[in-house]
Amino acid sequence: MGRVAYVNGRFVRHAEAAVHIEDRGYQLADAVYEVWAVFGGRLADAAGHFARLKRSLGELRIAAPMSDAALTIVLRETLRRNRIADGMIYLQVGRGVAARDHAFPNPPVSPSVVITARPVDLDASEARAAAGVGVVTVPESRWGRCDIKTVGLLPNVLAKQAAREAGAVEAWFVDDLGLVTEGASSNAWIVDAEGRLRTRDIQANILRGVTRLSVMGLIAESGLDLEERAFTVDEAKSAREAFVTGAGSLILPVVRIDGAKVGDGAPGPVAKRLRELYISQARRNAS
Ligand code: PLP
Repeated sequence: MGRVAYVNGRFVRHAEAAVHIEDRGYQLADAVYEVWAVFGGRLADAAGHFARLKRSLGELRIAAPMSDAALTIVLRETLRRNRIADGMIYLQVGRGVAARDHAFPNPPVSPSVVITARPVDLDASEARAAAGVGVVTVPESRWGRCDIKTVGLLPNVLAKQAAREAGAVEAWFVDDLGLVTEGASSNAWIVDAEGRLRTRDIQANILRGVTRLSVMGLIAESGLDLEERAFTVDEAKSAREAFVTGAGSLILPVVRIDGAKVGDGAPGPVAKRLRELYISQARRNAS
């Protein structure tokens, strides 16, 4: 047998190894991993990697798929089947397979486990070490690129889960200055105390919502005042109205922020009107 991978309890040919398309690691980056160096078919720094794996899983509240002892057996068996003496072994544990939704599956599903291994040419590694290597510097941007609609959604997953556990539907991210950036899967809006529509400008580290842009067009057509200006959590709490926009939520009135009522605690007239206008326009323009 050639190269083999371990996928959810089975050893399969590497070329055919696959996870389900709704594996949360694949769709939401809702997974953790470890890599061990391998010498003579044994795991280097085994305990350190197991400890970090346990910590990473614990931080994300993903159940350990098996004991360390059982995992060691599977890792070693993967090395044996791939005939690896010196090399590397990769383990990924994800929250599992569930219909796509940012919040954790409830009830929980079994974690996904994938293991792959590959040999390392120690002579080449020695030669490189003997010559030394260069580095380049890049701006620290992990993750300052929320404008890209990437599947690197783990922060959004954790935020949405926090919302769900608090009996809310959406979470709003707040930056260091106390300003709301956007929702975990939507853009955030208020009708401020002066009656102006406000949403954060796209110079900020947010997704450029397509629904947001359409709603801006409707606001202009309706002759309402709009300011692309960030708002604080306090401004949102004392706003006349708040709402979110997105392809999933369309226009959804927000009536509570951290438990505090917005306005009189009921969906406001502006959000309701914009929702009607948006839906009828979207029906007309859908292609
Ligand atoms: N912001 C985030 C983080 C999102 O995930 C989404 C949609 O999923 C949005 C904003 C709204 O974008 P759109 O209106 O294009 O759906």
